Amino acid sequence: MNNNDLFRKEVHSLKRYVPGKPIEEVKKELGLDEIIKLASNENPLGPSKKAVEAIKDAAENIHIYPDSLATALREDLAKKYNLHPGEILVSNGGEEIIKLIGHTFINPGDEAIMATPTFGLYATSVLHMGGVPIQIPLKNYKHDFKAFIEKVNDRTKLIFVCNPNNPVGNIMTQDEINDLLENIPDHVVVVLDEAYYEYAIKNPEYPNSLEILKKRPNTLIIRTFSKVAGLAGVRTGYTLTSSKIINEMTKVKNVFNVNRLAQAAAGASLQDEEHIHNTVSLNYQSLGLMEKYFEENHLEYIKSNANFIFVNLGIDSKEAFQKLMEKGFIIRPGYLWNMNSWIRISTGTLEQTEKFLHKLDEVLNEK
Ligand SMILES: *Cc1c(COP(=O)(O)O)cnc(C)c1O
Repeated sequence: MNNNDLFRKEVHSLKRYVPGKPIEEVKKELGLDEIIKLASNENPLGPSKKAVEAIKDAAENIHIYPDSLATALREDLAKKYNLHPGEILVSNGGEEIIKLIGHTFINPGDEAIMATPTFGLYATSVLHMGGVPIQIPLKNYKHDFKAFIEKVNDRTKLIFVCNPNNPVGNIMTQDEINDLLENIPDHVVVVLDEAYYEYAIKNPEYPNSLEILKKRPNTLIIRTFSKVAGLAGVRTGYTLTSSKIINEMTKVKNVFNVNRLAQAAAGASLQDEEHIHNTVSLNYQSLGLMEKYFEENHLEYIKSNANFIFVNLGIDSKEAFQKLMEKGFIIRPGYLWNMNSWIRISTGTLEQTEKFLHKLDEVLNEK
């Protein structure tokens, strides 16, 4: 039996996700003492001290299964957003929600509309279940909602809106989202991926997705503790949607999907607003330094509403990636999204950002 017959065809035809290179690996490979990773949109301040303390306490009980429904965390989130706990599902990172969306909604042949480039896991989740991702190229670097609307048909189950869009960093505004929603049927589930919510709400045009959810139950909001809360390493995300959808998704999630340490850390970080505030404030300072450099050097970039920035270096991104890595920095090269002269850089501490710009300047002047 060859591989094509051994494996489920939807699985065999998928491509593996290319993660950012782990720091430890690069250090060994290049014999460098210090590597700074500005590639995976992690929090340069680290996690909240309260989260670390909560993990230490919870560690005593890791012989006991976690609460499969993350009841305490869901109650805290329900209070924060003025929702019912039944409208919230806590997950093993936002990525689990994306996988569950495919598992919950997609029959073979069903269609899901999304932008390209955007977060790659949407297409993976849909393809896995035999669905068809309808990938609409960005227009002026934004989701082309007019084309989205034209693609809606009887087979359309889902519309993914990555807001801010990873890897580009810009947002779709409240007006733009309203226009989309007015022109699609109510049964289409609209996924609003708000992984960078706490950064994006600094923009007054950012949509109020909770208000949208109230009026339109087939709306599904994704949020995560990986980015602003700095908990990428323990894996906690969640979705806010109708209790009807939560009920179906809960049937197909892993029963104990969010481990004890993750639940404890996430709960504690909700109590640390100062950490979130400091993180967002540092983020916009770091973005400011990068924007200033790009302006001065006439590099095209996209105004960011997240903790990363997308910039056109005008050189091969594979080469830029390699050269920057040899100088101690890992970034995300644009060829991964068929935008070969672009790179995505995560924000860092001010010191890291300044040092990075210095190295970038060297690379650009070596040409
Ligand atoms: C980071 C990210 C997520 C979720 O990441 P997790 O670490 O799995 O919570 C979801 N969507 C987008 C667009 C992201 O960038």
